[in-house]
Amino acid sequence: MAQIAFIGLGTMGLPMARNLLSGGHTVSGFDLDADALAEHAKNWGIAARSAAEATRGAEFVITMLPNAGNVRAALFDDDGILESMSSQALFIDMSTIHPNETDAIRNSLQERGYAMVDAPVGRTSLHAQEGKLLIMAGGAQSDLERARPLFELLGDTIVDCGGPGMGSRMKIINNFMSTVLNVLTAEALTLAEASGLEVALAMRVMAGTAAGQGHMATTYPAKVLKGDLTPAFMLDLAHKDLGLALDLAAGSKVPVPLGAAAREVYSLARSRSRGSQDWTAIYALAKELAGLPE
Ligand code: NAD
Repeated sequence: MAQIAFIGLGTMGLPMARNLLSGGHTVSGFDLDADALAEHAKNWGIAARSAAEATRGAEFVITMLPNAGNVRAALFDDDGILESMSSQALFIDMSTIHPNETDAIRNSLQERGYAMVDAPVGRTSLHAQEGKLLIMAGGAQSDLERARPLFELLGDTIVDCGGPGMGSRMKIINNFMSTVLNVLTAEALTLAEASGLEVALAMRVMAGTAAGQGHMATTYPAKVLKGDLTPAFMLDLAHKDLGLALDLAAGSKVPVPLGAAAREVYSLARSRSRGSQDWTAIYALAKELAGLPE
């Protein structure tokens, strides 16, 4: 059983540390908040008085903190992790931070001879409590294998994202998708209600189409990801339908800013002679605009 330092015992960190304790490990925790630390002690964790104290003798040092500034403070400040971290210990940052910060922190640690894994998590604090997080891990293969037994106590899905910094990148892209989809979902359901539809009925209908099932699970694998842009549903028609929705929204005084922006993307695709392609050619257009190969 391993000795683990866990820094950041908040909404996510506290139940994660508890799951490591339940797995039989020794978990010395530290948080700036005395109440959080007391909760960790109630779970039979060790309450340390500083990050340095928590880290002394640890084989693994895990941070679960709000932002990169907090991670840097926990590592580099007085009484921080680096004051006592063994050169054999593995540093695992599970916070959601900017990937460039992940790279910079990794470089600083590497210069001092330490190994690091970036392993931010997907899902919610309920999943953290149940040990059912999705862990997006980036790091050297041997370091990921070393961390795996701990990850298996914290999550039910562990994904090797393909190298150092890639867990951090995957997490940001995942959240980009889910945060924007949240806005689109809100626009669609608001438009449904303003049009006199039952929201529950609209949700039931959309659960049976690409609207609710998502393009990743439906149209993309069938068309653009196969390199097939012959139209199953023509982009021109999608542009027409989006125009109908925007008119309906305007008539009901429902602002749909994301929908309006999306129509410009369809217009751009049409201006680039993609109107008669499959509507998933929007992905081909996005790659073209980013200078990526088709
Ligand atoms: P939180 O604010 O509930 O907890 C953070 C804890 O860190 C607090 O208790 C705070 O006192 C402590 N802290 C801050 N700086 C510290 C320092 N220098 N030393 C010691 N302790 C310090 O945040 P959270 O919801 O647990 O989120 C943690 C990370 O997980 C964030 O990066 C967040 O984006 C990510 N995340 C959160 C969720 C979620 O559902 N809450 C889901 C996935 C990922």
